[in-house]
Amino acid sequence: MIVRTSTDLPPDVRAAMKTALGAEAAGTRPAQALTIIAQNIDLASDCEGAICQDTGMPTFEVKTPVGANQIWMRAQIREAVAEATRRGKLRSNSVDSITGDNSGDNLGPGTPIVHFDQWERDDIEVKLILKGGGCENTNAQYALPVELPHLGRADRTLEGVRKCILHAVWNAQGKGCSPGAVGVCVGGDRTSGYQHAKEQLFRTLDDVNPDSRLAAVEASVMSTVNDLEIGTMGFGGKVTLIGCKIGALNRLPASFFVSVAYDCWAFRRLGVVLEGRSGEISRWLYRDPSHPIIPMLDQSGFVRTGREVALNAPLSEADVRGLKVGDVVLVSGRMFTGRDAVHSHLMKHDPPVDLRGSVLYHCGPVVVKDGDNWRVTAAGPTTSIREEPYQGEIIKRYGVRVVIGKGGMGAKTLAAMKEHGAVYLNAIGGAAQFYARSITGVDGVSLLEFGTPEAMWHLTVDGFPAIVTMDAHGNSLHKDVEQESARHLETMGA
Ligand code: SF4
Repeated sequence: MIVRTSTDLPPDVRAAMKTALGAEAAGTRPAQALTIIAQNIDLASDCEGAICQDTGMPTFEVKTPVGANQIWMRAQIREAVAEATRRGKLRSNSVDSITGDNSGDNLGPGTPIVHFDQWERDDIEVKLILKGGGCENTNAQYALPVELPHLGRADRTLEGVRKCILHAVWNAQGKGCSPGAVGVCVGGDRTSGYQHAKEQLFRTLDDVNPDSRLAAVEASVMSTVNDLEIGTMGFGGKVTLIGCKIGALNRLPASFFVSVAYDCWAFRRLGVVLEGRSGEISRWLYRDPSHPIIPMLDQSGFVRTGREVALNAPLSEADVRGLKVGDVVLVSGRMFTGRDAVHSHLMKHDPPVDLRGSVLYHCGPVVVKDGDNWRVTAAGPTTSIREEPYQGEIIKRYGVRVVIGKGGMGAKTLAAMKEHGAVYLNAIGGAAQFYARSITGVDGVSLLEFGTPEAMWHLTVDGFPAIVTMDAHGNSLHKDVEQESARHLETMGA
């Protein structure tokens, strides 16, 4: 079930993404991004590779018969998680919060998350969601009444709840790999609110809320939210959200929390029902294995138009000054990965390689060892804004010319790019299989002591496609989309 969840999206999510693809005009930025996403979904299920390199926080919801041995079951789940990690279907994602050491097998205090519940039945239900860090970081919790930017006051009413959801989606922009889906909890306390919000993500996208009051809010959000025009990956466009699922818990009279759990398009959840005695799978949840997987694309995937700009690393200042926001580029040559640990390291130490003219990829790939060689099996971009405190200084100090990631960066980085001559390229978040195929070799690795996702991998790439969203002239598509969507938000709050 873990392998299937990590590599194959459930049919309701596939259907929603297919509708999203059909909603965007061919040749536009969001349509190109959705084509790459669709191609990635097909590649992942064909080769049983991780849909996204961030295979997320494994979260299991288990219902057992009264008297079942939950201690034994937890041990079985932990062993299955470790085995899926050994097979490269899960990235080693469990990190000691104090030392930063990666446990290497996805096991550690708090990982995986396993919740047990009992029911008066003889069978066992196991549901799993894999929710990555980029979208988890865009979760939001509001204590009502609250004054919201661009929306005004959100009172302790369902209208206030609606405003909080719209604000959370607007605030996420493309950083959570939109189009996404939100699970929402009205009430509870701060802890139970977030948990119940995440539980809503186990509902299928096409179900109808049995509480007609909440169903009305869900419908209202879905009928207006796409007018924000944040679009796929925050590139602008017609589809920003593919689902909104709301639950409610009782609360203390003094508190009124609205908790929003944002999940990305790589919305990975599945489940099984097991025979209570034998442990055999009696049926799957969310998918029917007797139905063939219908490919997302019935035509070829990302097609070059001939207008793409070829970039061959290492790059000169003139190479990048010639680029402008909106250009589609194909990067070839040497690329170095670097995310949180590498950026923090580079602020205090010289780089392990010469970064002049280099391409720095915000990516924590899944890498497996084949004999003496390394092989990248999943390599999409990670959320770049986390590196905002460091990026401008690193561009200035070491002469980096191109930064690739997702979701864009802030004013400090934009200013450094203008001053020193560098650009930001937005790759398509989650398209881990698609990008892994642009990598023709792994030539080395530095700082492996930080763990596989955080190490600096030396990659050779060929025709790696991405879009210039911040250029060396002070322009930022992310800033433009954020400002334009804020104007739309104001009309929705009025
Ligand atoms: S698709 Fe994006 S937000 Fe989702 S897990 Fe992958 S990188 Fe994270």
